[in-house]
Amino acid sequence: MSRFDIAAHDYRPETLAVRAGQERSQFGEHSEALYLSSSFVFNSAAQAARRFSGEEEGNVYARFSNPTVSMFEARLAALEGAEDCVATASGMSAIMATVLAHLKQGDHIVASNGLFGATVQLFSNILARTGISTTFVAQTEPAAWAAAIRPETRLFFLETPSNPLTEIADIPALAAIAHARGILVVVDNCFCTPVLQRPLELGADLVVHSATKFLDGQGRVLGGAVCGSKRLTEEVFKYLRTAGPTLSAFNAWVLLKGLETLKLRVEAQSANAAQLAGWLEAHPKIARVYYPGRPSHPQYELACRQQKSGGAIVAFEVKGAREAAWQVVDHCRLLSITANLGDTKTTITHPASTTHGRISPEARAAAGISEGLLRIAVGLEAVVDLQADLERGLALI
Ligand SMILES: *Cc1c(COP(=O)(O)O)cnc(C)c1O
Repeated sequence: MSRFDIAAHDYRPETLAVRAGQERSQFGEHSEALYLSSSFVFNSAAQAARRFSGEEEGNVYARFSNPTVSMFEARLAALEGAEDCVATASGMSAIMATVLAHLKQGDHIVASNGLFGATVQLFSNILARTGISTTFVAQTEPAAWAAAIRPETRLFFLETPSNPLTEIADIPALAAIAHARGILVVVDNCFCTPVLQRPLELGADLVVHSATKFLDGQGRVLGGAVCGSKRLTEEVFKYLRTAGPTLSAFNAWVLLKGLETLKLRVEAQSANAAQLAGWLEAHPKIARVYYPGRPSHPQYELACRQQKSGGAIVAFEVKGAREAAWQVVDHCRLLSITANLGDTKTTITHPASTTHGRISPEARAAAGISEGLLRIAVGLEAVVDLQADLERGLALI
């Protein structure tokens, strides 16, 4: 059975999530096997030569490929509607590999100003040192992206919805601007996952993932992935097999099983988030709620067009500053105080003093990260229990 045969049948995503990519060994195992082997043997010197030259497909060394990792890649590719997928050790290595595989010294990136903190650091410090520069522009203004293009611009990088303010980038509009100039569009699809948003169908060239979040969904392992056409992922593969930040077989095996329940988890967590966002919006101690699934969201219509639902991330401002926000956090007994997201266990974080703590207060204010802002990544608990947990601190404001 070939890795991609199943895609030829036009199966629905639910089916692909549990079936795509599986390769059975001679033992006929029903559940995907974990192949803990760093290298692979050949039948003959001639076969070794063919494998090394790429003339014959097959495993050589785990930095290049491993059967368990390949199964995860095939399954995620099927879910994203991608021709191919390359797995990486983490979300950050997926982003780094994508940029270094396709850009060189002197090239320029246009990126949204609401990116994940480490991505901002990667672009503005590490990549800047290699001579790859980045201009950050407003996520929600396609005209600002067009205006930032230079002759040496090679890549648009965006993450939608943004963290923590859930601003939506118009993927088809940005893809049209980029493609008119031969610029690649890369979307970090960590927040929505292919369950809620399929960026390649909307015009993106590559999708990157932090598999650490919803794809695992149970807080166990780090991982990442890059999905897209074979032509574009092949370059990422060449970078990875040489530079080395590939996904471990064990993590791939955990993630492969994570994908089987992805749809159930993301849909249930998103439904919980929608319910919680409605409750927060009606709460007298809450000044503002940021949730793309609420008509109060400034880009509600775009979100409805582009995403299947509002997702599992809700941000809100309490009436008050840091002290009031911290009071809510400190009175939580159920919600985990951690910046992680995408877990079945609900998490709460105060962005201004954690994920966005290193940027200056002025820059933070300009980015809309107020002292009263809290972000919740909703899990699978009963919404009434989450509400009771938040109410304890909110009642004291
Ligand atoms: C967590 C995260 C990353 C980085 O992923 P790691 O697996 O932690 O390296 C990138 N983008 C987004 C949107 C994230 O939430």
